[in-house]
Amino acid sequence: MKRGLLFIVTAPSGAGKSTILDRLLEIFPGMEYSISMTTRPPRKGETDGVDYFFVTGKEFEDKIADGEFLEYATVYDNYYGTRKAFIESRLDAGKDIILDIDVQGALDVKKKGYPAVYIYIIPPTMAELRKRLEGRKTDSREVVEKRLSKAAEETGFYGEYDYVVVNDDLDGAVDAMRAIVVAEKCRPSGIGDAIERFLGK
Ligand code: ADP
Ligand code: 5GP
Repeated sequence: MKRGLLFIVTAPSGAGKSTILDRLLEIFPGMEYSISMTTRPPRKGETDGVDYFFVTGKEFEDKIADGEFLEYATVYDNYYGTRKAFIESRLDAGKDIILDIDVQGALDVKKKGYPAVYIYIIPPTMAELRKRLEGRKTDSREVVEKRLSKAAEETGFYGEYDYVVVNDDLDGAVDAMRAIVVAEKCRPSGIGDAIERFLGK
C-alpha cells in the first residue's frame, strides 16, 4: 500500500480555507481531514470520532505524558491535539490527510521534522478578508477586529510554508490546491512503486 501524504493547511480565519478544502475533498476521494482530540464538550450535532475525539482532561494529560501528540495547544481553556498514531494509521492506509491547524501548531510540527507539505492560504486583501468575515455573520465587530490583527501577525510566518495560495477567485484557488497535490504526488520520494513497476523489479 502506497503511503499517503500529509498536508498542513493554515489560513487566517475567514480566508476561505473550509470552502477550499471541502472542494478539494470532492476532487480527491482518497483525502481525509485529520480528526483532533479535545477536552471541550461536544456541541449539539457533533459526534465522537467524527468531529473530534472527545476526552477528559485527565485522559488528555496522560496522552501528553506518553508523548502521543504530534502537536497540541490550549485554546479557550481546552486542550486540542493531533495524535501521531491516528495520522500514521491513516497515512499507512494510503490516505492523504489534511491537518487544519494554526501557525503555532504548523511550526511545531515542522520543528519536529515531520514529513508534510505546508500550505498557507491568504485572501487577496485585508479589506476583502474583512468583507468575508462580516459577510459570514458569525462574529461580533470586536471579534472581527481581533481576527484581522491576528491575520496580519500570522501572515508574517508565510515564508515557513512550502506554498502560498491566494484565495481571490475561488475556482482559481481550488485549482492551485489541486495542482499542489498533483505535483507533490510526483516527487521521487513517493513514486518508488511506479519506478519498480517500470523497471520490472
Ligand atoms: P475559513 O474556513 O478560512 O474561516 P470560510 O471557508 O468559512 O473561511 O470562508 C469565509 C467566507 O468567505 C464564507 O462566507 C465563504 O463563502 C466566503 N468565501 C470563501 N472563498 C471566497 C472567495 N474566493 N471569494 C468570495 N468569498 C469567498
Ligand atoms: P472549535 O472548538 O471551534 O472546534 O476549535 C477551536 C480552535 O481549536 C480552532 O481555532 C481550531 O483550529 C483549533 N484546533 C482544533 N483542533 C486542533 C488541533 O488538533 N491542534 C491545534 N493546535 N488546534 C486545533
